[in-house]
Amino acid sequence: MNTSTKTLPEGYVQSGEINLKKNRLLAITLNIIAFFVGVLSFFLLSSFATLVRPGIMNLSGSITAGVWAVMLGLVILLMTIHESVHGFFFWVFTRSSPVFAFRLFYAYAGAPDWYIPTRQYMIVTLGPLVIIGAVGILLMLLVPESWVLFIAFMVALNTGGSAGDLLVLTRLFKLSPMCLANDTGDVFTFYEHQPTIDHP
Ligand SMILES: [Zn+2]
Repeated sequence: MNTSTKTLPEGYVQSGEINLKKNRLLAITLNIIAFFVGVLSFFLLSSFATLVRPGIMNLSGSITAGVWAVMLGLVILLMTIHESVHGFFFWVFTRSSPVFAFRLFYAYAGAPDWYIPTRQYMIVTLGPLVIIGAVGILLMLLVPESWVLFIAFMVALNTGGSAGDLLVLTRLFKLSPMCLANDTGDVFTFYEHQPTIDHP
């Protein structure tokens, strides 16, 4: 299979799933990993920022209520951009509009009606991490100095927030390119082609 389809082709059977609705432990673990990856990313990015933009050293020391409000706004903006990138690639491979949901602690994009080949689905999964990461690091070099740490914060948040995407990716690597993936947003299921067994 190398195109997305709305009907599961003959001979395909479900061979696994990642279900964040049912698997609470996995959901909590992912959030803990996301937090530490986010903190580590911010440390690395801000160290990088002070190297390439030495001027930002003079701006530190004043985290005011206004700054926290800006950060909260950035979190919401980032979640929207992240899910839009997933949504864009869902659209590229299915040519139909994906679904989006925004909850209190997480957001998702999905294409519940579609079975997507694993190679294409890897692009859907990795899209936000790669694109936001690349654009963010480029912006850190170009924006006014007072913005640099906010951009670093967003890239770090995005990297941490991609923990679930990376989990899905590690599963995808173990599957053959013939496999199909279905993603409702919080339940990810994959299907493998089962060769017909001839009984003698
Ligand atoms: Zn994602």
